[in-house]
Order: sequence, then C-alpha cells, then structure tokens
Amino acid sequence: MAEMHVSVITPDGTIFDHREKAVNAQTTYGGITIMPGHMPIIVPLAIGELRVTRITESDDSENYIAVSGGIMEVEADQINIIANTAERSRDIDLDRAENAKKEAEASMIRARDAKNKIEFNRARVALAKAVNRIGVSEKRL
Ligand code: ATP
Repeated sequence: MAEMHVSVITPDGTIFDHREKAVNAQTTYGGITIMPGHMPIIVPLAIGELRVTRITESDDSENYIAVSGGIMEVEADQINIIANTAERSRDIDLDRAENAKKEAEASMIRARDAKNKIEFNRARVALAKAVNRIGVSEKRL
C-alpha cells in the first residue's frame, strides 16, 4: 500500500510523527488533500484543522491536530508541518480554549469601542485559534 510519512514540528518539539495515507490541511488558499505521489510543494497553512488518515496494524484511523498557521512541505512522500503551535485533539485543554475564546471576544469588543485596529486584529486571531482548538478537541479519539 502506498504510504507517506508525516511530521508535525513545533518549538516545543515533534508532536506527531507517523506513517499515513492521506493528509487534509487548511492552507491560506483553502483546503488541500495530499496523497502518496503528490508533487513537491511548500504551502502556507492557515489556523485550522489537520486531518491525518493513518495506517495502523488493524485498520485506518483518523487523527486530528489543531494548527495555528505555519508551513507545510511535501517532498518525496515525506510531509513536514512546521507550526508555532500545534496540539493533537487529545491534548487540547477544552476549558482553557473556551476561556481564551471568551477573553478574545471581550477584547474584540473593547478594541472596537476604542477604535484600536491593531488590538482588534490581535484579538481576532486569538479568537480564531480558540475556536479551532474547540472544534478539533470535539474530535478527540
Ligand atoms: P491562552 O490564551 O489559553 O493562554 P494562547 O492562544 O495564548 O492560549 P498560544 O500562544 O497559542 O496560547 O500557545 C502557547 C502554548 O500553549 C503552546 O505550546 C500551545 O500548544 C499551548 N496551548 C494553547 N492553548 C492550549 C489549549 N487549549 N490546550 C492545550 N495546549 C494549549
């Protein structure tokens, strides 16, 4: 069976390193699916979900990872994802993400009222990261 190898690397270390047969990622241009034999590419990733279809002893299984932007490099059936932060669904602290969401929403309101564009955009990114973590955490296996 054709297979690839995927590594997700963050400043905290390698958080995922497995054989797989498909990866679905959110690039800044939209969703992309990488199958074995894909041409070499380097693409920027958006804040979003990474879905990996793994090859296990018994069966195929899906793993979900929350990525807060980064770069994906595909080269000869090796996929490297380099991100500032990335968490497997099982490692996401849901309470923390929900608190981060509430704080980001409150910051957006404060920044809007103060007409502070920079702070508004910062809070909007924080909100996107929190919402992504909540969504991915709901898919924990
Ligand atoms: P918070 O607002 O909750 O402090 P943050 O968005 O500021 O979160 P980041 O700067 O994105 O946090 O990440 C800092 C570190 O914390 C990274 O290692 C990231 O993987 C981890 N992290 C952030 N949020 C969570 C979460 N909800 N569950 C698990 N790890 C998290």
